[in-house]
This record gives sequence, structure tokens and C-alpha cells, in this order.
Amino acid sequence: MNEKDFGYRDEKGFWIPNELLLPKPVLKDIFNLNKIFKNIFGFPGYLFPYNILWAVMALLIWFYFTPDINTMKNFNLDWCLFIYVRNAVIIFLYTSFFHLYLYVFRLQDNNFKYNLSPLENRSSKFIFKNQFIDNLIWTFLSAVPIWSAYEITFFWMFANGYIMSINFGSNPIYFIILFLLIPIFHSIHFYFTHRLLHTKILYKIAHKIHHHNNNPGPWSGLSMHPIEHIIYFSGVFIYLLIPTHPFLILYYIFYAGITPNAGHSGYDKIIFKNRKWLPCGDYMHYLHHKYFECNYSSGNTTFLDYIFGTFHDGSDISTKKTLDRMRKKV
Ligand SMILES: [Zn+2]
Ligand SMILES: [Zn+2]
Repeated sequence: MNEKDFGYRDEKGFWIPNELLLPKPVLKDIFNLNKIFKNIFGFPGYLFPYNILWAVMALLIWFYFTPDINTMKNFNLDWCLFIYVRNAVIIFLYTSFFHLYLYVFRLQDNNFKYNLSPLENRSSKFIFKNQFIDNLIWTFLSAVPIWSAYEITFFWMFANGYIMSINFGSNPIYFIILFLLIPIFHSIHFYFTHRLLHTKILYKIAHKIHHHNNNPGPWSGLSMHPIEHIIYFSGVFIYLLIPTHPFLILYYIFYAGITPNAGHSGYDKIIFKNRKWLPCGDYMHYLHHKYFECNYSSGNTTFLDYIFGTFHDGSDISTKKTLDRMRKKV
């Protein structure tokens, strides 16, 4: 299993996939039932491998690692702290798998690594001049507390009847549709809030922290300024408008927390023995880190970039257009 089967390296050593990116969903395929089925159930597809994995993780967390909703009527250090520690442990174990596999034990060397440079450890833009430590600090001292604060607040609101409630038994179809649409809703929310973060003032005071990682690693995914974390997790406010169940509250916030880190791994694929592999990095988003003013979307709604004229498909023409746009902005 070799990167040369899927792409090539340019003269600077950057890995480039053979096929140009297409906006998702592919517009010409939206009436093709065969393609729709393949996009949803194929591998890699909408469900496999990651959305199914994250859904199973969320279910396990709900059944085994979430306090009873009735105990959450009052803020109490015990259950609030439990939620912070539980989220910190999950993100630590999950992200450590990618970090150890790819960057510490280097089990596939630079195979499928977008940028051959290692993580930085002498750059003054990072705390302690070290990208890995900087990323850990923003993750555990900002991302996880704000992720947990949203979860705690929304559980508390639900327990006290401030949120319209449903249950699976009486509204199974609504429940399942909402569950399946959460990744899409998260992608759309991400696109528009990300554009907001690229406005001059918000970029300067907040979003530039995330963009220090122009060669990201797994821990860069949640490495953001607290203002960006508040905006990033704010999609959960949708539940003030529509009826929901506490599991769906958990799932939305968990989904926002768990998705970025593999996507920022810096590797397009993770390779196991016997030529088995899993998709890993998000090339679309990697191009955003490389060229800034393009590909604000990620996930399953990248057609938004296409519609708004900021889609970078990986070609030289797209790079030129992006650089022109950046010059005009300055
Ligand atoms: Zn990013
Ligand atoms: Zn950005």
C-alpha cells in the first residue's frame, strides 16, 4: 500500500492526490439512486467508517458515562466535573491513537503525509515554541472546558424543562431523522461560522491561533482560541428551537468535539497490515490550512464553497484564484 497508488509529490515534496476534489454532494449525482446508495453505505461513505464509529461511541457514552438526567436539575460539582473529565479522557485516548501511530512510532513513516515537515518545535508562534504542547494546551484548557460547559448547560436546561422534549418511543422517526442529519447540520453551521471567523477582527483576535498550524497534526483539530470554541460549539443552540432528546444533545456536542482531530492528522490515509487502510486526513481542509482563503467547509456540505466561489479542488488554477483573492483582501 503506497501513496504513489493514489497521488504524487510535487517538486516541494507536498503529496497531491491524483483526482481533483469534487464538491459534496456531487450535484449531478443527487438524482442517481445508485450513487446515493453508494455515497451513504459505501466505504468510505457518509456512514462508514467514521460517522458509524462516532455514533457508536456516543451511544456508549450515553448509556455508560452520562449521569441520570434527573440528577442534573441542579449544578453540582460532582456531575459537572465528571463530564469534563469524561470528555478529556475520550479526546485524549482517541487523538493519542493517531498521534502515537503517525508521529511518535511513525508506523507508516511519511507514506501519505501531505507535508513532509515534522511538527514544529522552534517556532515562536506556538506556546513554548512547540506545536504539540501548544495544541494540547488549547485543547485541554479551552476546547474541552467549553465543550463540557455547553453540554452541562444544555443538560441542565433539559432537566429543568427549558427545552422541548421528545422520546424515542413516541417519536422514533423524528428521532432517527434528527440523529442522521446532525453531521450535515454541523457541516453547514461550520461553514458559515468559519466564514465569520475569517472576517478581519475575529481572525486577528481568535482564528489565527488555529491557523498557526499550517502543517497540522492530530492535536491541531481543536487547537483554537476560546472565542472560536464558543462559536464552534454554538450549533447546539438549534435545540432551543426544535424538540429534542438529551442523547441528541450529547451527540451533537460530542460530534463537534470528536470530528476535527483525525481530519487534521496531516496524513491522507492511515495504513495497517495486509494493505488495510482507513481514510484519515481531510485534504479539502488541509488546503484551507495551506492557502487560507478557500475551502471554508468540510465534511458533507463542501458544495457551499462551490456555490460561494471559494472551492479549491487541488489544482494549480484553484491555487492561483485563491492567491488572487488573498491579494485583493489585503
Ligand atoms: Zn483546521
Ligand atoms: Zn480558517
